[in-house]
Amino acid sequence: MDFKEKIRVIQNFPQPGVRFKDITTLLKDGQAYQAAIDTMVEGLQEKEIDLIVGPEARGFVVGAPLAYKLGVGFVPVRKPGKLPAETIEESYGLEYGKDSLAIHKDAIQPGQKVLIADDLLATGGTIGATLGLVEKLGAEVVGAAFFIELTYLNGRDKLKGLDIFSLVQY
Ligand code: 5GP
Repeated sequence: MDFKEKIRVIQNFPQPGVRFKDITTLLKDGQAYQAAIDTMVEGLQEKEIDLIVGPEARGFVVGAPLAYKLGVGFVPVRKPGKLPAETIEESYGLEYGKDSLAIHKDAIQPGQKVLIADDLLATGGTIGATLGLVEKLGAEVVGAAFFIELTYLNGRDKLKGLDIFSLVQY
C-alpha cells in the first residue's frame, strides 16, 4: 500500500514554514490503518520484544495496536502530572524552551526488552527523552518504530545507533 498517499500534508501548521504530516487521514481509513500496523509487525518479526512504550498521544495510536498484535504489554509515557502512581521524569529541549515526559517507576523491570513506538520521528527529542526514561528503569531497548521519519531532521543521529523502523520517509 502507498501509505504516503494516505497521509495529508498541512502547510504552515502549527507554525509558518512547517509542513505537518497529518496521520488522521490514514487512521480513519480502516484498511490503511490495519495495513500500516501489519507492515510494522512484519518489519519487527526478528525482534524479541517484551513491552512497547509509546509517548502520548499519537504514540498510543501506533504502540497499542502493535502491542496487541505482538501479544505484549503497552506502557504509556505521558506529560508530567498525568500518571497516578510514582513516576520518574526526563526533560528535553524544544525549539523554544523545554518540556518533560514521565513514566511510572514500576512500569518496566530491569532487563525487559522494550520497543519504543510513535507516529513520527522528527528531531528525535521526544524519542530521546522516552529512551532516557526507559533506560533509567534498566530496560534493554531493542529499537524504535514509526509511521513516518523526517530524514532531513536527522533524528536518528540523536538516538545512539538505535535500530529504527519507519513505514514512510520524507
Ligand atoms: P521530535 O521530538 O522528533 O522533534 O518530534 C516528534 C514528535 O512531535 C512526535 O511525538 C510527533 O507526534 C510530533 N510531530 C512533530 N511533527 C509532526 C508532524 O508533522 N506530524 C505529526 N503527526 N506529528 C508530528
